[in-house]
Amino acid sequence: MSERSDDPTASPLPKLPAPYPAKNPNIQEGLEGALRALRPALYQVHADHARGMQVEFEQAVIVQCVLRVLMLKGFITSQELDEIYPSMHQMMLELREKQLTGPRLSDPADPTLDPKDLDCGAHHPTCGAACCSSFSVLLTTDEVRSGKYLWDLAYPYRLLVDSDGTCVYFDRDKLGCSIWQDRPTACRVFDCRTDGRIWDEYPSRRLSVDAMAAKARLAAARTRQAPE
Ligand code: SF4
Ligand code: SF4
Repeated sequence: MSERSDDPTASPLPKLPAPYPAKNPNIQEGLEGALRALRPALYQVHADHARGMQVEFEQAVIVQCVLRVLMLKGFITSQELDEIYPSMHQMMLELREKQLTGPRLSDPADPTLDPKDLDCGAHHPTCGAACCSSFSVLLTTDEVRSGKYLWDLAYPYRLLVDSDGTCVYFDRDKLGCSIWQDRPTACRVFDCRTDGRIWDEYPSRRLSVDAMAAKARLAAARTRQAPE
């Protein structure tokens, strides 16, 4: 009887379809070498994905249990759930978009505005540079390759943020970007003037609730850091 291995990566490589095995033995060996190196990583991705799905499934079961208990005790009805579901669904979508998409071009695009004309320094007393503490800044492929920027290993390829969600390149003392001349493209093309996530109404400089919260967060962090 052959010895059974618990390590799936130790099993023979799967038979590859034509044009393999390659006529050139060097190509064949190179390919098999690459597959051997890739296989543990693929198994890891697969295992992580399966674990993630299991966690999601268990969370869904827990939510169902809680709902069932609440219904049995008469705290909520299925009709009430149906009524609130669309708005909660929309709220979660907006939250996810905020977390994942980061700065975006003005929406709707306004051809009369050019991000280069935006004088951030002049706006800072009002906006508190809320944008640098609000969004996920996604790097371009070239920016990732350049190795110039720190990005979050848990969220490829998002610019690294610190524990309160503020970009690590934000200079809290000077209230500005420490790499302004070399900031990533997403920051360069961002124009807050038509972005409702920053301004409820730009002409009167009325900040959105989220931007006010980000501004307050930054101000509180500065106060904590200030020498006594
Ligand atoms: S919120 Fe607007 S004005 Fe303020 S720093 Fe960000 S881009 Fe500049
Ligand atoms: S790189 Fe600079 S402009 Fe971009 S989010 Fe960070 S601090 Fe703000």
